[in-house]
Amino acid sequence: MRPAFRTVELAGWGRYPRRPGPVAAPRDEAELRELAGQGGVVARGNGRAYGDSAMGAAATLDLRRLDRMLSFDAATGVLVAEAGVILGDVIAAFLPRGWFPYVTPGTKFVSLGGAIAADVHGKNHHVDGAFGTFVEWVDVMDAAGAVTRASREANSELFEWTVGGMGLTGVILRAAIRLRPVESAWIVQETVPAPSLAEAMAAFEAADDATYSVAWIDCLASGASLGRSLVMTGEHAPALELDHEHRGQPFRTPAKRRLSVPFDAPGIALNRFTVKAFNALYWRRGLRAPREALVDWDSYFYPLDAILGWNRIYGRRGFVQFQCALPLESSEAGLTALLTETAAAGQGSFLAVLKRFGAQQSRFSFPMAGYTLALDFPANARTLALLDRLDAITLDHGGRFYLAKDARLPAAVLHRADARAAAFRDMRRDAGLDRAFASAQSERLLL
Ligand SMILES: Cc1cc2nc3c(=O)[nH]c(=O)nc-3n(C[C@H](O)[C@H](O)[C@H](O)COP(=O)(O)OP(=O)(O)OC[C@H]3O[C@@H](n4cnc5c(N)ncnc54)[C@H](O)[C@@H]3O)c2cc1C
Repeated sequence: MRPAFRTVELAGWGRYPRRPGPVAAPRDEAELRELAGQGGVVARGNGRAYGDSAMGAAATLDLRRLDRMLSFDAATGVLVAEAGVILGDVIAAFLPRGWFPYVTPGTKFVSLGGAIAADVHGKNHHVDGAFGTFVEWVDVMDAAGAVTRASREANSELFEWTVGGMGLTGVILRAAIRLRPVESAWIVQETVPAPSLAEAMAAFEAADDATYSVAWIDCLASGASLGRSLVMTGEHAPALELDHEHRGQPFRTPAKRRLSVPFDAPGIALNRFTVKAFNALYWRRGLRAPREALVDWDSYFYPLDAILGWNRIYGRRGFVQFQCALPLESSEAGLTALLTETAAAGQGSFLAVLKRFGAQQSRFSFPMAGYTLALDFPANARTLALLDRLDAITLDHGGRFYLAKDARLPAAVLHRADARAAAFRDMRRDAGLDRAFASAQSERLLL
């Protein structure tokens, strides 16, 4: 019997947009085969993309039940797992044995399928590249239910478009990913306060060989303080460098108390005054904090995961994230213009993140050599108008947009920014994928 579709309210992590749609959650490959040919479907992992990329145009396939880890080779660090496996579960199973994902986004609550489809990046893109760099192969199901194994060597076109293809090349069933050997669960973190954008960028360039680097940026600071940031680098701590207390059990870290946001905060809770005060406080705390600290993996990579359901603090109307990448040569000018516009609008977010990217790898992958800026805003008419202005600045500086964060980009802007979008669309049309696999986002963006 074919697994049933149920109509549920669908949204991404930003809870904007929201709309009801049919969703089915196949339990295995055979059930998935029954559903894959519906037309206008897209796979959904753990729903951590911010906007509408995991909302099917006609129906959505929830892959979270395909969550088995299938094999692990301790000689190569290659894990074979189903697409619905959550990255946090990989860490829970493998960190105690000395392995960690090579690339991780800022939340561990993503599925492997979602991480591959968005070709997610971490704080180490400048040295290691994106998630796809460590994917050995993927098994992709097409609309007829046929499964193709794609890698850099075999069916390489399918591989290249699937990594970063936002679920629009078929359903990723399972994948082989390479993990990183580590000696401990600890990170040596160094924090460099940078009082201006130029100094923040100089700190990134000086840290170009650091494994991890990321900056929290005060997007409401203006004038001489525009772009002031706390630039944080990190290295996996070798066991021998741990203090006596941790050396005996290098993978043991303290248990965490998790907070949660049990209700939608009133929209007013995050206004320009609270956000500005938060930013100023965070900056001053950063100035006083010790420059070097030993931080457990969870606090270092996933500070936001400590507050379950933090997306509800933006209230019922939800929030949107703006994330662009700018080429190196125009990064300083582009970032200055983006931050000036944001500060002038007084619409800043308290979650503003700056990262340095290395070169693009996969066909439709987001990163490009340069800088990426991510800003969160409550979804309302004023911030949506501001985002249109930030789009224009990004276009003027040769930048591009991250589809995993997008909920509202106009198709014309995407296609002007990124010639690859037309190539992706043509490939989909020629391969007959456009009718089979479609999301609300792919329809909006004419992909
Ligand atoms: C707090 C937070 C921090 C984040 N930080 C980062 C970051 O630092 N770097 C970064 O790159 N991203 C970041 N993200 C975005 C997130 O990593 C991506 O959106 C990721 O794709 C989410 O994975 P998911 O399993 O939740 O996928 P979903 O949100 O469910 O889906 C995302 C996309 O993947 C496709 N997809 C999912 N599963 C499959 C499958 N089995 N087969 C084919 N396609 C599939 C969907 O169709 C959709 O297009 C962050 C998100 C949050 C909420």
